[in-house]
Amino acid sequence: MKITFMSPTREIFEVDVLFVGAGPASLVGALHLQKQLAANGMDNISITIIEKGREVHSHALSGAVFIPRAIRELYPDFDTICTIPKAEVTKDTVYFLTEKKNLKFPITPPPLQNHGSYVLSLQNLVAWLGQKVEEAGLNLFPLFPAAELLYENETVVGVRTRDQGLDKEGKPKANYQPGVDIRAKVTVLGEGPRGTLAKTLIGKKQLDSGKSPQVYAIGVKEVWEVPGLNRTGEVIHTMGFPLDAKTFGGGFIYFMPDNLVSVGLVVGLDYEDPFLDPHHEFQRFKTHPLVKKILQNGKMVSYGAKAIPEGGLYAMPKMYTDGCLLIGDTAGFLNGMKLKGIHLAMKSGMLAAETIVEALKKNDFSETTLSDYEARFKHSWAYQELRKVRNFHQGFEKGLLAAMVNGGLQFVTGGWGFKERRHAVPGHARMHKIVEYYGEQKPDDKYADLKFDRHLTVDKVTDVFNAYNLHDENQPAHLLIADYDICNNRCVVEYGNPCRHFCPANVYEMVEENGKKRLHLNPSNCVHCKTCDIMDPYEIITWVPPEGGSGPNYRNL
Ligand code: SF4
Repeated sequence: MKITFMSPTREIFEVDVLFVGAGPASLVGALHLQKQLAANGMDNISITIIEKGREVHSHALSGAVFIPRAIRELYPDFDTICTIPKAEVTKDTVYFLTEKKNLKFPITPPPLQNHGSYVLSLQNLVAWLGQKVEEAGLNLFPLFPAAELLYENETVVGVRTRDQGLDKEGKPKANYQPGVDIRAKVTVLGEGPRGTLAKTLIGKKQLDSGKSPQVYAIGVKEVWEVPGLNRTGEVIHTMGFPLDAKTFGGGFIYFMPDNLVSVGLVVGLDYEDPFLDPHHEFQRFKTHPLVKKILQNGKMVSYGAKAIPEGGLYAMPKMYTDGCLLIGDTAGFLNGMKLKGIHLAMKSGMLAAETIVEALKKNDFSETTLSDYEARFKHSWAYQELRKVRNFHQGFEKGLLAAMVNGGLQFVTGGWGFKERRHAVPGHARMHKIVEYYGEQKPDDKYADLKFDRHLTVDKVTDVFNAYNLHDENQPAHLLIADYDICNNRCVVEYGNPCRHFCPANVYEMVEENGKKRLHLNPSNCVHCKTCDIMDPYEIITWVPPEGGSGPNYRNL
């Protein structure tokens, strides 16, 4: 029997401005927009923010050392009115790590000096901004993942949210609710890195034409509670162990208030080794004597992972099209040299807001009018900051030593280094096949020596438990594999199914069936980091948002 599911009748909501994703870019953008509208006597404009997480801050994750530059433009009294736990940075230290030893840099390189910044949890900051948005009377709707963009004559006119209450086959369950169409004069995409809607929009409108490919890193982190530590405000960055000299990345340890320690590892998603596992490298990082000494009397309380757009200025797509703007991580607002993006994301939201005010005045939301966003960006401090680090990630193409020379040269030449724009390739294209990387010396298990003691070091499943995931199993897949044959027959030989390794949440497994291996998915583990969408060597994995409220419910990250 063929069951045909009729297209449902959808409710249609009309708003003036719609922000998709409630990260710092959207929240600050929406608050700034409201202020600017009030200053221009335009009080009748409706502003709505939708967010896929259970709560506004459920999916927010960063280091975080926060530069309060943009937020002070919005709230000059931010330092006093924002009462979330936050500590001014008191000390910066950088180490080069070998497996057992550490070498402290005599001077902290200027990009890693964080005087004037705050150590805090992005989650708390986003929750605080969410309160401000609600106090301001703006519409903020968690549990609303945007599934697709709505177009009219090639102009973006809003989004359709994801249907709720469909079963695995896509058939309605008792609690079925069709997604709604939210139509807007301007849709602002602040979906975070590798945004689902932004990815389709960039492809459809070729917004990346003439740009360098975006290159990402993955940040894997835990928060530990360590009684009696008393080092609040200290910031440590590391290079070297556990990563080899060819792999981009490094470790961080940030000492937050209340004896919480944020510890993590960033790994460039352009590594060569198909067996490299960022989560396992992070576990190794914690076994280094320097890190172990800090954590040994504590306990891990939270876990998460997130992709980071590292490509720099030349990898930022065109950030406007008819009816739509791209902000924050979605547009690549990140200073890779400083490993900071929250302040830039906020500034991008504010620049978008100022552009929207002018568009509303003209009642013109065409690409021509919205291109003012890019012009505003080019005249802002955010552009000056990003221009100085425009070649930073690309400087790592030949490994750590060359990168240090490149980084130093770029610092003194205002980002120029050896040339204005360095060559870049997409990260997944740099992964080697097993035979190319290992020849005949393929290891059975690259991490055979890594023991999970379930205190200092934990496996992925235990870590995911600390991401507080919720995910109804009986819903359509949110990880779309275009061709399982490639996974089961080709990738297994060529790359050894690297999805098992680069996914930090044990979503991808190869199971044995009738003497043959096949890919099996555990979608309920997914922490929405987007790494699989980015790093799969065949580009056959597409991440789409699951039902609203699915995924992690991060705490203190
Ligand atoms: Fe990240 Fe993809 Fe794994 Fe989800 S399935 S945790 S998005 S790598």
